Amino acid sequence: MARYTDAVCRLCRREGLKLYLKGSRCYTKKCSFERRPTPPGQHGVRRRKVGDYGLQLREKQKVRRVYGVLEKQFRNYFVEASRHSGVTGEYLLRSLEQRMDNVVYRLGFAPSRAAARQMVTHGHFAVNGVPTNIPSYSLKIGDKVEVRQSHRERELFKVVKETIKSHQAPDWLSLDAANLAGSVIAMPRRDQMPLDFNEQLVVEYYSR
Ligand code: SF4
Repeated sequence: MARYTDAVCRLCRREGLKLYLKGSRCYTKKCSFERRPTPPGQHGVRRRKVGDYGLQLREKQKVRRVYGVLEKQFRNYFVEASRHSGVTGEYLLRSLEQRMDNVVYRLGFAPSRAAARQMVTHGHFAVNGVPTNIPSYSLKIGDKVEVRQSHRERELFKVVKETIKSHQAPDWLSLDAANLAGSVIAMPRRDQMPLDFNEQLVVEYYSR
């Protein structure tokens, strides 16, 4: 499947805020947004008037880019969310949080969602004992994600074993750092998901 392969820091500059797409680098002075917080491109610094549509579009792009989902798949998440009773925007964010690459990131196995996605596609993880390499796999309450036994002695996970000791997983996940495993113990509530998203604007974008 086609992926965005340009410099991801451009996306932060485009959205006008830090999206934390590069892991530890995002917390250092090397962060491109810290050094150049203007939109990318020759006319990036121009002042523009943004209307309702522009605001909705930017919010949709922001959420999509944070979770690393392409447009078609993101729209499918919205269509699925709109079929459910309850708050559509909240259901949409919950579906994105349930993605396997996001859970691997939230559990602290990877420094960013992009890194988590790569680790999943490389087949390092099993769900409920079954090797799973699908980043979009939707995890449910009771599902257990773990690093496969045969992959635990790899250099990558020797580093993870150290960094994960101080990691604080969100309350809806339970982390077993010693065994490089974690479980989904609840569905994330809205206050346990990123608060700087205005998901209502995303709903309005697709409801035009
Ligand atoms: Fe965004 Fe991280 Fe790049 Fe900074 S370093 S611009 S937060 S992706």
